[in-house]
Amino acid sequence: MSKALQILRDVFGHAAFRPPQQDIVETVIGGGDALVLMPTGGGKSLCYQIPALVRPGCGIVVSPLIALMQDQVEALRQLGVRASFLNSTLTTVAQRSIEGALLAGELDLLYVAPERLFQPRTLELLERAAIALFAIDEAHCVSQWGHDFRADYLALERLHREFPGVPRIALTATADQRTRAEIVERLDLGGALHFIAGFDRPNIRYRIGIKQNPQAQLLRFLREEHPHDAGIVYCLSRAKTEEVARWLNGHGFAALPYHAGMDAAARAANQVRFLREDGVIVVATIAFGMGIDKPDVRFVAHLDLPKTIESYYQETGRAGRDGLPADAWLLYGLQDVIKLRQMLDASQGSEEHRRAEQQRLNAMLGLCEITSCRRRALLDYFGERGAERCGNCDTCLEPAPTWDATEAARMALSAVLRTGQRYGVNYLIDVLRGSGNERIRGAGHDRLPTFGVGAAFEANTWRSVFRQLVARGYLRVDMHDYGAIRLEERSRALLRGEERIELRREQARKATRRTKGTAAPAAADSALWEALRACRNALAAEQGVPPYVIFHDSTLREMCERLPRDEAEFGQLGGVGERKRERYATAFLAVIRSMTSVDRRDRLA
Ligand code: ADP
Ligand code: ZN
Repeated sequence: MSKALQILRDVFGHAAFRPPQQDIVETVIGGGDALVLMPTGGGKSLCYQIPALVRPGCGIVVSPLIALMQDQVEALRQLGVRASFLNSTLTTVAQRSIEGALLAGELDLLYVAPERLFQPRTLELLERAAIALFAIDEAHCVSQWGHDFRADYLALERLHREFPGVPRIALTATADQRTRAEIVERLDLGGALHFIAGFDRPNIRYRIGIKQNPQAQLLRFLREEHPHDAGIVYCLSRAKTEEVARWLNGHGFAALPYHAGMDAAARAANQVRFLREDGVIVVATIAFGMGIDKPDVRFVAHLDLPKTIESYYQETGRAGRDGLPADAWLLYGLQDVIKLRQMLDASQGSEEHRRAEQQRLNAMLGLCEITSCRRRALLDYFGERGAERCGNCDTCLEPAPTWDATEAARMALSAVLRTGQRYGVNYLIDVLRGSGNERIRGAGHDRLPTFGVGAAFEANTWRSVFRQLVARGYLRVDMHDYGAIRLEERSRALLRGEERIELRREQARKATRRTKGTAAPAAADSALWEALRACRNALAAEQGVPPYVIFHDSTLREMCERLPRDEAEFGQLGGVGERKRERYATAFLAVIRSMTSVDRRDRLA
């Protein structure tokens, strides 16, 4: 057995490498550079942790996530790995002692904040130490094109020159082609092997619904499907995160706001509660979440439309890192499109940049409106082939009914045309439905042939028609003209009657199907499950670490399923390495013994 595999089993308690891991680990152990693109939860950390343990010297991990370093290091120490971190939160004394340990060869892994790496003191230290490798985590931070750009990352280009011969491994979950090219260029990784794992997250169920009464819809989703689970709710504005968090609290959920406008201490405190306590919901702007290492986030809900598929995928990817079922749940409406267009128009940047953003927003809208498999569309977007139907998204589980909307669409387009492409959706709907309001009469639009032709449809149906026509690129919202709807080139054929169009039917669509996106095992085991969680919480509190640092939910679930009887059987569970077996087998075995009958354990064995 190779050294790497042995470490995987003995230290980390996993039976086998996942497909790309082994090649990556071997490349880096052999001294080669690597660029690793793997989805969140794919298992990137092992790709540098194991080589750091196999190669002589200490692995240096560059990570922008200072708030998480302590937990990452703690998780490694629980496994018996000698890990530490250097960042601005340390006292001088603590820093000295870590430096001493590094020079004495007593460290396997050292996490360093990027701004610290090239300080003269750190550089000098690293030059005197034996270094196994450099791991550059969240490598997309080096890309100015991406959304998490960090100026400190640009300096990482120097690593190659200053430490020739030390292998470098850059890791990210961002799939974007352009970001990838920028990482290679800016980190001087021209000679690196590329490892691109599939981006599918089969355990995440994607669902996208129409926004009606968003807070009530969210509440129902949480009550029915995630009453005690940890999750993230994303909103576009700071004020809204506060409001939604307050409202959820009023309904008995432990919800905390998180946004860039809060003071740093309050924000950090909320993040810590999210990581350490069970079942906390964070209501956040996108400022929250990069590299959130919490494995048991059971849902990610979006109350506003994300600007791009990249950010949607990255945000929803924070759910279910442990591989257990999780939900990605999004609500959107035409108002979202208008708001995002407004933000785009107000943003700085070149015309080219704006056009690119516009295209990305259109792709996101397309995803919302498709009637085929969502996962397939997501994978397509990232250039990966998926199955025709995944069976785990709303459109697969409950195919969206469509209707031949050709006539309605033509009425809508003609209303836009005949009113001079100068009016917003509400006005157009009034014209179509033949409402006799002042403004319409004032403009003489009550004399148009389109006036009242659409009275047979409700205003909501018209709203849905307009939304879908915008999303599909037949119409566009002109933000320079107060949200006036304009025709796009594409609409011609439809107007002339040369094309037909099918749209999603909203009304007939039932509430999206309920899932049990929870980590808990079947009902019969729920008492044992709760007892195991209590045991884990007690151990975590005693040591001041997050519960998942002791064991992930997946390990607890295996305990419920396999009911280990002794330390040897306990050691067979996924996520139980030697150190954790020695340390925790007794406590958890006692819980299992006290909660289950001998009869049941024997039957299983
Ligand atoms: P990433 O950094 O890519 O988001 P992590 O490194 O945090 O992912 O790993 C995600 C989860 O997968 C963790 O719970 C980890 O223990 C588990 N994991 C990683 N590699 C393996 C493996 N080979 N076998 C079993 N579980 C694994
Ligand atoms: Zn599907």
